Amino acid sequence: MQHFLKKYFDGFLHLLFPKICLHCGSEDLPNHDVVCPICYSKLPFTDFLQIENNVVEKIFWGRVSLGASGAALFFTKNSIVQLLIFELKYKQNKRAGWMLGQIIGEAMKLSHRFQQIDYLIPVPLRRKKERTRGYNQTYIICEGISQVLAIPIEKRVLFKKKPSITQTQKGRIERGQDSNTLFKLKNTTVLFNKRLLLVDDVITTGATAESACLCLQQGRPADIQFVAAAYTLS
Ligand SMILES: [Zn+2]
Repeated sequence: MQHFLKKYFDGFLHLLFPKICLHCGSEDLPNHDVVCPICYSKLPFTDFLQIENNVVEKIFWGRVSLGASGAALFFTKNSIVQLLIFELKYKQNKRAGWMLGQIIGEAMKLSHRFQQIDYLIPVPLRRKKERTRGYNQTYIICEGISQVLAIPIEKRVLFKKKPSITQTQKGRIERGQDSNTLFKLKNTTVLFNKRLLLVDDVITTGATAESACLCLQQGRPADIQFVAAAYTLS
């Protein structure tokens, strides 16, 4: 009977957390990863974190003062990266987010441009959206970074201010106009003279990150850097 129950339980676990590669279905899945080593090796790494004046940094030129920034992967349609982001945002698959965070963490390790960071700051969601999803996906990505680099996550300072029309429904100019109104700060003193790393899932126009940085600057940190899991062309 016990054997039967164990088999039943294992089968149930497998349904909840299938031990197969999300992308190709391979069963070669070490360390609770979500993609197999072969699919992992095919991920479109950017190397941006090691490159000065990379495309992501250029997005912010003339808009907001940021330290070294970057994104770990290219986001393209129907790719493994899109699948990972989709799993994280819509399938309750935190392991996909931890993996994205670990990829960022490993890229930061290789770069000398991301050192002595005091806090990871996840780009916040509206409270209602976070409640519906059960978590903030950028916080999960931060957890993945922390697993590699042991940098604490500070989520008591930056909050989404009010309901806003989704980014895709608005043009870049219009977004720019209300970029100061998206976020608000609490516990501002926590940030004073600290080195911050703002973390997002995907960067496109940079409007969200710009707005978040402008808000964080009110806490007078020593430095703000930015990373996203993936970069996509607008
Ligand atoms: Zn695979």
